[in-house]
Amino acid sequence: MRIEENIKLGFKDVLIRPKRSMLKSRSEVNLLRNISFKHSKIIWKGIPIIASNMDTVGTFSMAKSLSHFNIFTIINKYYSISMWKNFIINNKPNVFNYIMVSTGTSNSDYLKLKSILSLSPLLKYICIDVANGYLDHVVSFVKKIRIVFPDKVICVGNVVTCEMVEELILSGADIVKVGIGPGSVCTTRSKTGIGYPQLSAIIECADAAHGLKGHIISDGGCTNSGDIAKAFGAGSDFVMLGGMFAGHIECEGEIIIENNKKFMIFYGMSSKHAMELHSGKIDHYKTDEGKIVKLLFKGSINNTISDILGGLRSSCTYVGAQNIKELTKRTTFIRVSEQENKIFNAY
Ligand code: 5GP
Repeated sequence: MRIEENIKLGFKDVLIRPKRSMLKSRSEVNLLRNISFKHSKIIWKGIPIIASNMDTVGTFSMAKSLSHFNIFTIINKYYSISMWKNFIINNKPNVFNYIMVSTGTSNSDYLKLKSILSLSPLLKYICIDVANGYLDHVVSFVKKIRIVFPDKVICVGNVVTCEMVEELILSGADIVKVGIGPGSVCTTRSKTGIGYPQLSAIIECADAAHGLKGHIISDGGCTNSGDIAKAFGAGSDFVMLGGMFAGHIECEGEIIIENNKKFMIFYGMSSKHAMELHSGKIDHYKTDEGKIVKLLFKGSINNTISDILGGLRSSCTYVGAQNIKELTKRTTFIRVSEQENKIFNAY
């Protein structure tokens, strides 16, 4: 047994120190980034925020709406091939610059991925998504996918430590997804005792990835636009959101009405609810690692996006950064023991 004595930090442990700024207005901030991917050599331009591939977040409707903002959606893996066909026929080519196809690592996942990708050359982004990216067969799967699809962007996760980020990038991944346990509907930390505070995970993994010309996605734990700014400040190339994008009309989730108020059901992909929904059972050797919650219905995603992007532009202005890359360069975190003053609830 060993103990690492260095304290690891989450978003709630820091704030970003303001800096002198030459910007006159938040409108001068440009949130678009150009990213050139290591293996596939594809160059992508957009706002580096991503809707999670949870089944009530990473939907076709979400992708359609977010593509107007140049924001990525990782489409959940539960759509059938015929639903994909329909989606491809009915959408403009630009939408596909902001879509990743997600897959697990089983043989049937692989066959389905191949069938989806064969539907259109416009599908250029693959996300290999497993709860535990430390498994050896995940590394083998990345190597296989890189050989079969040399010119696609491959994203894989989740991990939280630098040696695994390096191994996955050297095995063929362009992007590594970082985060174990920070999610809004995740119970992994209490069920297993495993995890890593998200801000430190980003700082350490981004350093490892960038050293190899790879990229990372910070996945999970953002509760507001301030947390997104902190994730970019810590060096993340992309920030993935589940809970912040949940509860909208585009989520295609179940709506319930209670006391004349509308709610939408949201749940973790390892929750009992999700397992029963998608495989009809929970295998006897497994436990659930996610919860189910009901969220006040939030309407269209467009308002939420405007609010998030406005918050990010303001973060950049506070440190004098004209774009997201500069935000990382100009970030100094201060460790704190207080965040927002919560004495009053918003009316
Ligand atoms: P959020 O943005 O809601 O804080 O986090 C979203 C992320 O939580 C997802 O992208 C995914 O990585 C993770 N996640 C989703 N469902 C579950 C679950 O049931 N269990 C765990 N451990 N993580 C989950």
